[in-house]
Amino acid sequence: MERWLALELASTIRHDGDGGVADDLATVKGTTHWIHEQEDLLADHVPAGELAADESLRLGIIELRQAVRALFARAVSPAPPSPADAHRLMTADQAMARLNTAAARELVAPQIDWPAGGVPTARLLSAENDPHVRLVATLARAAIDFLGGPQRTQLRSCTAPRCVRYFVKSHGRQEWCKPSCGNRARAARHYRRQRTATDGGSVPS
Ligand SMILES: [Zn+2]
Repeated sequence: MERWLALELASTIRHDGDGGVADDLATVKGTTHWIHEQEDLLADHVPAGELAADESLRLGIIELRQAVRALFARAVSPAPPSPADAHRLMTADQAMARLNTAAARELVAPQIDWPAGGVPTARLLSAENDPHVRLVATLARAAIDFLGGPQRTQLRSCTAPRCVRYFVKSHGRQEWCKPSCGNRARAARHYRRQRTATDGGSVPS
């Protein structure tokens, strides 16, 4: 479903495996690579496999990502947001305006296609020729769908040490985005308890 593009977009900011934060959209080349990776999710709207990013598209996607991450932070609140950009989030009003403006740049009309003996499918007919505009608008619509849909309430910010990911909880008590994060978080918790028990105080953050 296209709405998962919102999570994919937010996840282009990720832990680099070395205590820092990596950005998959840091370069035009990286952005093109990311777009190609989304080919399946984008298939109904943009021929992503043939698309090459340029600097203006890269910046357009990054602006959208800032809006998505600001609203993701709001969605997980009062739990803390991803630490990657917690100190520089735009306001929710700014973020909504940015998403709505990007989505409105592509005029679309829903169409039904039902071949005889087949299954009906709904698709969006676009009045926009520029594939870069269509891509950004599609990402914006995906984010609007995601935030307006039931997945929003399952969105979490992973609390494992050094992790910066948002994820959608798939079962009841899931606290971490993936098992390795759970292991790291439990180890850190265990370490803190040990320290507290042995030297009666100083808790590492
Ligand atoms: Zn994690």
